[in-house]
Amino acid sequence: MKKAANVFQTITLLILFFILLHAAAMAEDARPFRIVLDPGHGGYFLRPFSKHGDKYDFGTGEYLQAFNIGAVNNNYKESELVYGMAVLVKEILDRWNEKPLGEIGAQNNLAFSDPNQKINIEAILIRPPDMKMEEISALEDPNAPYRLYDYPEAGKRMPGRISRINALKPELVVSLHMRNKYFDNDYGGLAILVPPASFLREIVNASYEFRDKPVAPKQYFAGVLSREYLPYLDWFVFERGRSEMDCIAEDIAIYLTGYANKKGTYVIDLQEYKGFRENMVTWPYQRSETARDLYYINREAPFFIREFSRFEEKRRHGGPEGFGGDNYYATIELLRFIKWRTVTEGLRINYRINYSFISLWSLPLHINAISAYLELGCVDSDSDLLLVTKHARSTASFIALGILSLLYGTDVPVERDAPRGGRLDWEYYGDYFDIPAVENLQKENE
Ligand SMILES: [Zn+2]
Repeated sequence: MKKAANVFQTITLLILFFILLHAAAMAEDARPFRIVLDPGHGGYFLRPFSKHGDKYDFGTGEYLQAFNIGAVNNNYKESELVYGMAVLVKEILDRWNEKPLGEIGAQNNLAFSDPNQKINIEAILIRPPDMKMEEISALEDPNAPYRLYDYPEAGKRMPGRISRINALKPELVVSLHMRNKYFDNDYGGLAILVPPASFLREIVNASYEFRDKPVAPKQYFAGVLSREYLPYLDWFVFERGRSEMDCIAEDIAIYLTGYANKKGTYVIDLQEYKGFRENMVTWPYQRSETARDLYYINREAPFFIREFSRFEEKRRHGGPEGFGGDNYYATIELLRFIKWRTVTEGLRINYRINYSFISLWSLPLHINAISAYLELGCVDSDSDLLLVTKHARSTASFIALGILSLLYGTDVPVERDAPRGGRLDWEYYGDYFDIPAVENLQKENE
């Protein structure tokens, strides 16, 4: 009898041992995620632009635009408010790191799909805080740490924010912005998203036929574009004095050729050079040409090999929302987490999610990571300001929960304004976040 008990004990111990071993192996299997927190702007509007601008064109050796310091309303600065939010989000994620999801879920009244999964994330803040005026005056180039694009320093090419993000090879980049009101009753969040190259190609092809047709451009394109691309025509809602089509045409012209359109036409203006933005960041997908030649879609060029890769298509098109790809889903989920939680936590904040803003903005476009690009609200709306001042800590925790949901998945109750809770299909991207060489992407495309 004694022997049998021993055998039984041994077996129990062995089973326990294997369970523990299995658990350890599972924990090791859990992939690490790197998340870049990217608070917009920082930096200063200083003259001359030749020294203090942004968008340095290494071809012409000049800055192509003034530094964009972001939205300001009296003492409220977008750059400082979103920096503060990014710091809080990082603090929260750091505190949660290595804890089981179930523990964080219990603390926050949220059901994660796999409560035993340990959180394994590294959160990185991509820029320093704003500097004080007296600190600036001592510096040769005070905008250096805040620049979006690469810039020259003592004859060397220094990496701007986009290149620094690419060097980190993160899975997810959360960009935080605020805006000045576009119209009187403007408030609430919105998503910024870049359309897929396949949409841009369709609209370019369709525009050859459009010339001189007696219909409004939007109406025309709505009639000829594939159904799946129609949502991209409906946006650009906030630009004053320009039609949606003017905005699309201008963006596409710059994207393809580096030149802007002549005012009110679909013809490029050779005096209006805006630069090849993909050459202003450090990555393998630059245009090989150094001359300012006109370009259009060249399927052999590194930039377009990347643009038409299946990874960019998934990042930017289709997906859980039916358009906008994983970028849009990630962005709108974080906004829904904010809106839903302000209600469930009883914050008494009037929040809404507005129509998205679609444009060929550089940061979502020139990184391989999933881009959640949020405008949290308006710096001149009282309720939006509450969200990032008085309730900043709560808002940061809503964003942090949303990030965990994108990484690991949550079981969110079906309620009005609730997020969907589904995790992103991270496995699909393979080594794409590591920024593979063009040849490897080309093989993938074949
Ligand atoms: Zn901004």
